[in-house]
Amino acid sequence: MSSRTADVVICGAGIAGISAAYYLTRDSAVRDVLLVDEGAPLSLTSDKSTECYRNWWPGPGEAMVSMMNRSIDILDHLADESGNLFHLNRRGYLFTTANPERINDFRTQAEEAASFGAGPLRIHDGISHGSPYTPAPAEGYRNQPTGADLITNQDLIRTHFPYLAEDTVAVIHPRRCGWFSAQQLGMYMLERARQNGARLIQGRIDAVHVSGGRVSGVEIAGESGSQVISTRHFINAAGPHLKSVGRLIDVDLPVFSELHAKISIRDHMGVFPREAPLLIWSDPQALTWTEEEREMLRETEDTRFMLDPFPQGVHARAEGSADSPIVLILWTYHTEPVSPTFPIEVDPFYPEIALRGLARMLPALEVYFDRPPRPHIDGGYYTKTEENRPLVGPLPVEGAWVIGALSGFGLMASPACGELLSKHIADTDLPHYAPWFQLSRYEDPEYIALLKSWEQTGQL
Ligand SMILES: Cc1cc2nc3c(=O)[nH]c(=O)nc-3n(C[C@H](O)[C@H](O)[C@H](O)COP(=O)(O)OP(=O)(O)OC[C@H]3O[C@@H](n4cnc5c(N)ncnc54)[C@H](O)[C@@H]3O)c2cc1C
Repeated sequence: MSSRTADVVICGAGIAGISAAYYLTRDSAVRDVLLVDEGAPLSLTSDKSTECYRNWWPGPGEAMVSMMNRSIDILDHLADESGNLFHLNRRGYLFTTANPERINDFRTQAEEAASFGAGPLRIHDGISHGSPYTPAPAEGYRNQPTGADLITNQDLIRTHFPYLAEDTVAVIHPRRCGWFSAQQLGMYMLERARQNGARLIQGRIDAVHVSGGRVSGVEIAGESGSQVISTRHFINAAGPHLKSVGRLIDVDLPVFSELHAKISIRDHMGVFPREAPLLIWSDPQALTWTEEEREMLRETEDTRFMLDPFPQGVHARAEGSADSPIVLILWTYHTEPVSPTFPIEVDPFYPEIALRGLARMLPALEVYFDRPPRPHIDGGYYTKTEENRPLVGPLPVEGAWVIGALSGFGLMASPACGELLSKHIADTDLPHYAPWFQLSRYEDPEYIALLKSWEQTGQL
């Protein structure tokens, strides 16, 4: 067993750990940062995501919008600095509905988001005389509107989104949103952190030493045996293993995990709109089956659920360059908590269900019903708190910190959360949203009362 030292040891080189290393080495002059991961960097959850971002978040309070706005400012800055190495775009998210009663919800959500600083709501109903609707460019991220466009004018919907189901009555298009390459952003930040002195080693952290109530070291099991690293700061950035790594210092983190899968298909018939924003169907639905198919599905317990109503939220986007045929599709219809195990096990019917659900919004996809393209399936866990807000800040053991519970927003939130954690550790001025994300919020009776009436979690 060899013995070494580090100022800070980070457990996990996913986007959260890397972002923390980037900010610690850049802003707080803590150069001696050791990232430890049992696998390759970014390879557990951070490279499985849909890679989308948005400043469109519900309350209570404006903490999520403020933090995401900060993250998007950082993404813009990093894109400028790197020549947009990670292909940041600003196509927006497009929430769509065939239910006239949803229009009011869209409007209320947009007004709430606007009051939190997400930008103004513009209404395009063919009656009001506001500014004209400006479509989003497929590439680029600068000089785009913020806020959201609510479109109920049918001609406008058909002109700009001709691919949507004919009975679509409204769309809302939040604009400070889009996607980017998570792998390239993560590797860019990792390289910068390394240039500033951070080190990365492969191994599994399976013990954290605490002496006199303060972190004093970690034990790492690697291919060449075990080693102890003396350190006064330990960051839990273990993603889906946040809870078990928390137990290494006897801290029970209030998180659980849901399995979220994603399929990628080759749209060889070229029916998916490649220039579109992220497309989301906001209505629950029942899948369309022939009578013969219904008969078959009714036969077994395993397949009967496919005749039941499915929740809202199937979503998809084009992946890759303009001439790539790849489309990503997601639809989480089972959200019960599970214990994270790898490799993930996905419902064998998931690809067909996701494709059929998406065809409700994009009927041209029905061409694939008889011969669905062979899907590539991956995914991972949304590890989250009950109200779907992150954990960033100190833990009850001195010198122990957390950056996690990043749920389905870890890529978009990590730049701001990494910066926030580095400010905590360096003991510099914290942004106003910091208390909303600390573990200690659960000791505040006002917050506990708020949790009881919490409505929207903002999860897609
Ligand atoms: C299907 C899907 C779609 C998603 N879409 C989006 C999206 O569109 N936008 C968005 O912002 N987010 C999205 N997310 C969420 C996002 O991917 C996660 O929030 C984010 O990747 C979490 O990053 P992390 O660094 O916390 O975890 P991870 O990437 O899982 O990294 C944790 C690391 O810790 C390591 N580790 C754990 N325990 C130990 C130990 N004891 N010793 C050593 N190493 C250890 C693991 O090996 C792992 O590499 C999506 C997630 C999924 C699953």
